[in-house]
Amino acid sequence: MRWSRLFIPTLRDDPSDAEAPSHRLMLRAGLIRQLGAGLYSKLPLGQRVLRRIEAIVREEMERIGAQEFHHPALHPAEIWRESGRWDAISDEMFRLRDRKQAEMCLGMTHEEIFTWVARAELRSYKQLPQIWYQIQTKFRDEARPKSGVLRAREFIMKDSYSFDADDAGLDRSFDLHAGAYARIFERCGVDAIPVEASSGAMGGSASVEFMARSDAGEDWIVLCDGCSYSANLEKATSAVAAVDDPGDAAPVERFPTPGVRTIDDLARLEGGAPADRQIKTLVQMVDGEPVLLLLRGDHDLNEVKLAEATGSTDARPAHPEECRAALGALPGSLGAVGVSAVQILADDALRGRRSMTTGANEDDFHLRHVDVERDIEGARWVSLRNVEEGDACVECGKPLRVVKSIEVGHIFKLGLRYSESMGANVLDANGKEVPLVMGSYGIGMERIMAAAIEAHHDDNGILWPAAIAPFDVVVSPVKAKDAEQARVSEQLYEQLGAAGLAVLLDDRDERAGVKFKDADLIGIPWRVVVGPRALKNGNVELAERATGAASEVALDAVVGQLREKTA
Ligand code: ATP
Ligand code: MG
Repeated sequence: MRWSRLFIPTLRDDPSDAEAPSHRLMLRAGLIRQLGAGLYSKLPLGQRVLRRIEAIVREEMERIGAQEFHHPALHPAEIWRESGRWDAISDEMFRLRDRKQAEMCLGMTHEEIFTWVARAELRSYKQLPQIWYQIQTKFRDEARPKSGVLRAREFIMKDSYSFDADDAGLDRSFDLHAGAYARIFERCGVDAIPVEASSGAMGGSASVEFMARSDAGEDWIVLCDGCSYSANLEKATSAVAAVDDPGDAAPVERFPTPGVRTIDDLARLEGGAPADRQIKTLVQMVDGEPVLLLLRGDHDLNEVKLAEATGSTDARPAHPEECRAALGALPGSLGAVGVSAVQILADDALRGRRSMTTGANEDDFHLRHVDVERDIEGARWVSLRNVEEGDACVECGKPLRVVKSIEVGHIFKLGLRYSESMGANVLDANGKEVPLVMGSYGIGMERIMAAAIEAHHDDNGILWPAAIAPFDVVVSPVKAKDAEQARVSEQLYEQLGAAGLAVLLDDRDERAGVKFKDADLIGIPWRVVVGPRALKNGNVELAERATGAASEVALDAVVGQLREKTA
């Protein structure tokens, strides 16, 4: 294609409202424009990149035997009522009414819709396994649309769903997806680490997220450099360094702590205790009932872990009066010693701890010499705390790192969650009705595009990974009006195109500097410069965007070399 005929509205300056490098560069390189909050138009160059990503995704999905569908994005409310999600999902779902006042929504995902087809059409285990997918628009009214297309309110997802007769089948479908995802990310130049993730309170037995390290991401993951351990912060565990508790078996002792409200207050108080020798007692109302949460004084609660431990997402911190009603004291003096009427969840970092200090359930009093296992009864041990940088790996003991990342894909063992609620069964080998065992698998098209830019850019612009670049090579005459340069450029353009490369001919009547700057900004991997000096020797200059390396190449060798380099 000829640049002079293309619509590539590059911007000289950084847009003021874009922070993430991918957001900034997608605007500057003319890939996208913002229509509204979380709504982006893809301009031709952005669309070319998306098409290439989609082609890779299709290839890898078909390689694992997946079959392409296309469902409506507009759904009747009834189908979402069947699974219970019409009520379970709150503001994230776009809802509307049609002209007959029937309730509808815009699909944020398609479990219900694929399950509806499976329920109606699949009869026997002999038809299984099935893997069905689509590449389609999703709508989510995100609370905080952010970083351009990374968190949008309308985006394109490849979503797939597997249907098997049993758990072993689901394991196979899940592993096939894990392999397909690894290949997709590799081909797209995105280094995505598979991490264990929380399956959430909605059930499901295993879930793996694919995370691309980037400061533009919104998810924290925990990595071990010593071994391959990796997990989402919501799921990660760590071995905490042992704290040397005094070995005494002294009985619990109550002591006055006037005005002490926080962990820090008690750490500063003479006769108090350092944070790691305190028990932090939090009260949450879970499904309307108080639950006591115990953590080490210097540890933080992870709310997703709490949801996983209780099986409920309906939780909030108790109000002071609710604390008093449950325990007889206000926050600042709460504890679990002697408590039996309230459910207690204790973080496993407190296991075996002795001589701890905690609230006495009496305002302005605390207890010392608390032996957690001796003095606190009925606590259920769970993981509640956030792993912190430097904690020891549970697998190998090396220090863990906590890093920010972008979730680019998510694979999920749903099990019977939808088949049971929606009644999707098949007959097994004995002629008995059994529910379909399902998995669901999502991958964001725009997120791959943005994650690739996050990982591959420099001060001058984008450095596209070869497989998803909008063009493979740009041919740039230094002076488009020069007859000889124009002739050679046209000839190369023809030949490269005939050799199967996606070629852009920069035939604009612009200064060479401007053309090179634009080409760097939009990130074409290879550039052929047709200029007077090299031409005298029958050569052109071949430059690689990623490394900046340039060399003179004989005119008749250019096509062969580029064909090799882009193969
Ligand atoms: P997040 O935690 O980032 O909101 P999610 O868990 O809601 O993601 P899934 O429902 O698993 O995401 O969706 C599958 C994939 O769709 C994600 O891995 C991501 O690539 C993409 N995706 C999800 N939400 C958005 C969004 N708001 N904008 C762009 N892509 C998205
Ligand atoms: Mg989300």
